[in-house]
Amino acid sequence: MNRIRIFLIAYFTYLFFSSVLYSQENPPDMLVTGIDQNIYRFYVNDYVHVFAHIGENGVLLVDTGFPETAGQIKSKLKELGRDNIEYVVYTHSDGDHTWGHGNIGENTILISHPGCKEKLAKDAKYPNDKLPDMTFEGTMTLDFNHETIKMITIPGGHSTEDVIVYFENAGVVCLGDMVVSGTLPFVRVREGASIYKLLYNVEKVINMFPANTRYFPSHGREYSKDDLKDYLTMLMTTIDIVTKEVKNGKTDEEMVKQDILKDWKDWNSKKWEWINTDLWISTIYYELTQKGK
Ligand SMILES: [Zn+2]
Repeated sequence: MNRIRIFLIAYFTYLFFSSVLYSQENPPDMLVTGIDQNIYRFYVNDYVHVFAHIGENGVLLVDTGFPETAGQIKSKLKELGRDNIEYVVYTHSDGDHTWGHGNIGENTILISHPGCKEKLAKDAKYPNDKLPDMTFEGTMTLDFNHETIKMITIPGGHSTEDVIVYFENAGVVCLGDMVVSGTLPFVRVREGASIYKLLYNVEKVINMFPANTRYFPSHGREYSKDDLKDYLTMLMTTIDIVTKEVKNGKTDEEMVKQDILKDWKDWNSKKWEWINTDLWISTIYYELTQKGK
C-alpha cells in the first residue's frame, strides 16, 4: 500500500465517521464538568468539548459544538444562571468546533484566526451571516467576568488556524485540537500544518504558562504540564525513529509493514481508529519527503 492510499483510506474513514457523528439527530446527554467556579466543560455528542466562561457579564464560549447540540448548551447555560453568549472564540474551523452556530445570538461577537474565517466562508454547512466579527494574529486580551482571557494564535500543529485560550486567573488553557490526550496527533501536513510546528507549539505551551496550569484539549482528558512533557517526548522519539528509517532509504510502505512504531501503539486512538501509528508514519514521511509540494 503506498502512502497516498494509506492517507486516503484514513481520510475517508475520518470523513465517514465525521459525517455519521455530525448527523446524529438525537444527541446523547451532555456531561457538564465544573473546571473552576466560572469555567465549565460541556462534552457534546460524546465527541468534543465546548468550554464556557460564565459570570456577571454573561458567557464566553470556546467553540460551539454541533448544530444538534446548540439547544443542549443553551439550556445548560440557563441552568447555570446565564445564557447571554457575548463572545465565541473558535479554536479552528473544523465542523465539530464551529457548526453549533445556533448558539450565536445577534449581539454575540465571534473571534477567530483569519484562516478560520476564510475556511468558514467556504464551508457550505456554515452560515455566511455568522462569520467571525474579529480576527487576529498574535495575542488578543479580553477582560471579561473579572477574568483576563488571552487568545493566542498558534498555527500549524493541527490546522493552519489554531487558537488557544488562556484564562489567566483560573490558570486554565483550552488547547483546541493541537493535542488530543493520550493519542497520536492528526497533523494536516497536506494543508500547511507541520510536524515541526507541532513540536514547537507543544514546547511553547509547556514553557509559556505557570507550573500548575491546567490544560484542556478539545478531545480527551485534562492534561498537566507533565502530561504535555510526556506527549512531547512521544512526538520527538517517534519522529526520530521514522526520520532515521527514511534516511536509510525506507518508504512509508516498508515502515508500516515492518511496524517500526510497534512500541508506540498504546498511543493509537481508542475512539478514532484511523489515528494510529500507520497514519503517523505516513504523516512524518510526507513531511520529510514531499515538503514544498
Ligand atoms: Zn476536533
